[in-house]
Amino acid sequence: VTGVLRTRAELRDALAAVPRPLGLVPTMGWLHDGHRSLMQRARADDATTIVTIFVNPRQFNEAADYQRYPRNETRDLAVVEEEGIDLVFAPPVEEIYLPGFDTTVSVGAVARPLEGAARPGHFDGVATVVAILFDLVGAERAYFGQKDAQQVMVIRQMARDLAIPTEVIACPTVREPDGLALSSRNVHLQAEERAAAPVLRRALLAATARWEAGERSGDRLREAMRETLAEEPLARLDYVSVAGGTTRAELDRVEGPALLSLAVRFGDTRLIDNEVLSDGS
Ligand code: AMP
Repeated sequence: VTGVLRTRAELRDALAAVPRPLGLVPTMGWLHDGHRSLMQRARADDATTIVTIFVNPRQFNEAADYQRYPRNETRDLAVVEEEGIDLVFAPPVEEIYLPGFDTTVSVGAVARPLEGAARPGHFDGVATVVAILFDLVGAERAYFGQKDAQQVMVIRQMARDLAIPTEVIACPTVREPDGLALSSRNVHLQAEERAAAPVLRRALLAATARWEAGERSGDRLREAMRETLAEEPLARLDYVSVAGGTTRAELDRVEGPALLSLAVRFGDTRLIDNEVLSDGS
């Protein structure tokens, strides 16, 4: 890393003559091994790599969540350095949303259920900031985590519809040894909540096991997740879902590929996780 880029002009100058292809890893910082895995994939694929660090106010549907989102740029820059990333773009809010900014990128059906329903405005914020970052960076590829499975679908739809040529690549979810998906928000978990949090993964695995044993009823698979979550008194269910098709509607019957997903609160901290059920496995 040669120094953090703060402005659009600095970014443009830094990108002018870099070797291609260029790989982009967008993040909100508080970098962990999930982010590192995206950086490693980018390094393997691309001649030049850029990480963006931007806590995007527009994708937080709760002001308090934005305020307390963890931030530590010094630590993040050390991670980026260790991973051998070439460029870092960490702009202030006004550099992404120029004065008078008044456009929203709003993706349709795929953004409506699940996280879209639970967090009004969230995917508008995501699609808007990612469209801006894609335009500013002009990367050949961009890397996202499967941990936010619906986000990947929303961004793919947005890029296709807006004719942005950046290829969207989804990378596997990185987990703690006990199965908890890494997340910047895990830092907010109290000790007992942290101990209880692997129940998300256990619920997904319980439903996956039923599916592998031949269960195809959406209701029964959702019930398997609910039953597992009920074993953990600290876990407050937001939703469980067995969804599929292009609109990610809840499935009565799982006949093809499907996405198991759930959102659970521990105190003030909301966690999500998912598992893909793919044909033939
Ligand atoms: P965030 O900083 O939380 O906005 O995440 C930045 C990118 O890292 C997103 O594409 C996330 O899906 C991805 N990511 C977050 N957690 C993980 C994880 N545990 N495994 C893989 N990717 C992740």
